[in-house]
Amino acid sequence: MHVRKRTTCRVCGSASLKPVISLGPQYLQGSFVKPGKEMPSQRKINCSLVRCNPQEDENGCGLLQMEHSVPPKFYMLLTGTGAVPMPP
Ligand SMILES: [Zn+2]
Repeated sequence: MHVRKRTTCRVCGSASLKPVISLGPQYLQGSFVKPGKEMPSQRKINCSLVRCNPQEDENGCGLLQMEHSVPPKFYMLLTGTGAVPMPP
C-alpha cells in the first residue's frame, strides 16, 4: 500500500497546510476480514489533520483534511459520510 503525504490542499491546491492534530500511527479503520479474501493491511499509517491555511495564502480555502492519502483500492471516500470500505 502506497500512502502519499499531501503537500497541497485537495480542493484549492494551496501549498499552505497548517498542522492541526496528530494521533500518531494508527491502523487503517474499516478494513474487515472477509472469508476467502486476502487479509486487510496490518500496516499503521500516520493519522494527522492539516488545515488549508487562508491566513498564509489568501487563496486558501480553509479545508480540514487528512495529511496522508490512502489509495482508493483500500478506501472509497464519500463526502460527508467519512471513509467506507470499497465494495468487493
Ligand atoms: Zn484549500
